[in-house]
Amino acid sequence: MRYDVIVIGGGASGLACVLTLASARGRGWEWAEDRRYLLLDTGRSDMNRALFKNVPGVEEGTYGRDLLKKLEEQVRRWGGVDFLQEKAVKVEGEKGNFRVLSEGGREFTSEFVVLATGFHRFDIECEGVRVVENTRSPKPGRIMIEHDGSYRVRDGLFVAGLLAGVSSMFATAAGSGVQVAIDILSEWAGSPVVVHDVPPED
Ligand SMILES: Cc1cc2nc3c(=O)[nH]c(=O)nc-3n(C[C@H](O)[C@H](O)[C@H](O)COP(=O)(O)OP(=O)(O)OC[C@H]3O[C@@H](n4cnc5c(N)ncnc54)[C@H](O)[C@@H]3O)c2cc1C
Repeated sequence: MRYDVIVIGGGASGLACVLTLASARGRGWEWAEDRRYLLLDTGRSDMNRALFKNVPGVEEGTYGRDLLKKLEEQVRRWGGVDFLQEKAVKVEGEKGNFRVLSEGGREFTSEFVVLATGFHRFDIECEGVRVVENTRSPKPGRIMIEHDGSYRVRDGLFVAGLLAGVSSMFATAAGSGVQVAIDILSEWAGSPVVVHDVPPED
């Protein structure tokens, strides 16, 4: 099956990324219409263990697992995103023609791939990816993938969240996923975009 973007990892950064991508649909931008997105996830986000008291705009005392559900529902309301509970094991190819293989033997193709699998390990076979120590983590053994400073690993391949080396806070992880989505949308649009909504006229 072919997608425009495949996001691997459905935690803070992966969900924020697909949410922003999906939210560009239905605005009369012909470059954003009919786009299809896939989110592959193994359900082990660090958010499952968090009780949030300092996430901007999120009610104090919100369980991370509840925010995960809320985010997924928010993405589903925009539409255009397929969710698949499966582990990605291999990414090959290049921009416009990536191939992602899942543990269950399924194969998907896409123009872009976003890696958002967190900082615990990276065991996806993926050409051109350099895994290094994550120096922003206070805990030893955490990893990240080298990128160009704007989350681009190589043409068409992005990294987001803790795997991109941002600090382990919900807002920074989600923010990097949003930035990646905006950069992909801007590439399609041919100039920088933002996706904003405004209240209806009084
Ligand atoms: C105990 C705890 C408390 C925390 N408290 C706070 C807090 O109070 N405030 C705050 O701001 N932040 C807090 N955080 C941090 C916050 O939860 C993380 O910064 C955030 O979840 C990181 O987002 P991420 O997308 O990088 O990774 P994650 O949210 O961990 O998501 C990674 C996802 O990738 C999936 N995945 C991995 N490998 C594959 C694969 N091969 N194929 C498919 N899917 C894969 C995983 O299953 C997971 O769902 C806390 C974290 C922990 C652990």
